[in-house]
Amino acid sequence: MGDQSFIGELVRLSQLYYQRQWMFATAGNLSVRSEKKHSFWITASGKHKGELNNNDFVEIDISSESMISTTDGNKPSAETSIHHSIYNHLPDANSILHVHTLESNLLNFQLTPEEGYRLIPIPPVEMIKAFGIWTERPNLQMATFYNFGEVKKIADTISLFLNKHPDYSLPFVLVEEHGPTVWGKTITEANRHLEAVAFLFQVMAHHK
Ligand SMILES: [Zn+2]
Repeated sequence: MGDQSFIGELVRLSQLYYQRQWMFATAGNLSVRSEKKHSFWITASGKHKGELNNNDFVEIDISSESMISTTDGNKPSAETSIHHSIYNHLPDANSILHVHTLESNLLNFQLTPEEGYRLIPIPPVEMIKAFGIWTERPNLQMATFYNFGEVKKIADTISLFLNKHPDYSLPFVLVEEHGPTVWGKTITEANRHLEAVAFLFQVMAHHK
C-alpha cells in the first residue's frame, strides 16, 4: 500500500461523496493515518471536494499536532483538530471521514454549549450490523456534540468524552447541525461505517 495509495483512495471517495451530495463545495474532510503511524494525511483547507487530487493533502504529526509536509502552500482543514483528537485517543482508528449530509443536519437535539455533548439513543435498525454489533435490538447511544464556533472546542469536548468513555462502541460521533465524523481500522471500513451512518440518519430524520 503506502501513503500515496491511501491518498488516492481518499481522492476517489471524495468524488463519490461529492456526487452523493455529502460534501458540497469545500465542506467535509477526509484523513488517513500514515503507514508509519506517527502522522496522518488530511484534506487541505478550501479545496473543492468534487475536484480533489493527490496534492490536496497535508501531513500532520500526531504528537505535536503540527504540519510536517505539504505541497503548493496548502493549509490543513479547519477541522484537523477533531481528527487529531480521535487519532490520539483511538489507536485502532486509521481513517476518519467527515461529511455534511442533509439528514445529519435535520436531526436536532437542542444541545447547549454548557453541556457540550449528550448521549442520544439510536434505533436498533439492521444496518447497525455494519458497525460490527450483532446483539438483537441493542441499546446504543451515539455521542452528539454541540457545534461550537471554535472548532478546537469541539475537538477538546470529543477528547473529554473519549477519556470518560473508553468503552464507547460506536465508530462515529455526530456534531449537531453539522455532520458525522466516522472512523475505521482501514479506509474501506471507515467508508462502510459512513454509509451505514448516513442510512441510520435517514431513518432517524424520517422518524422525527
Ligand atoms: Zn464539517
